[in-house]
Amino acid sequence: MAGEVLSLADCINSACPWSGRPVVPEGLTRYRGRVVGFCNSGCREKFEAAIRAFDAELETSEGE
Ligand SMILES: [Zn+2]
Repeated sequence: MAGEVLSLADCINSACPWSGRPVVPEGLTRYRGRVVGFCNSGCREKFEAAIRAFDAELETSEGE
């Protein structure tokens, strides 16, 4: 994701799921191949941290 330029035009949502505020360019990230947005980079980082945590749990639980 680093260095990737995401566009608000490609964002699937218009409101931040945390706050309901409008999505901004610095709040964009990619999820399951789609662009999703948040009202600021803090909300985006909260989402990315949750994904990383769940991905790590899924990896460690695979094959059990
Ligand atoms: Zn937000």
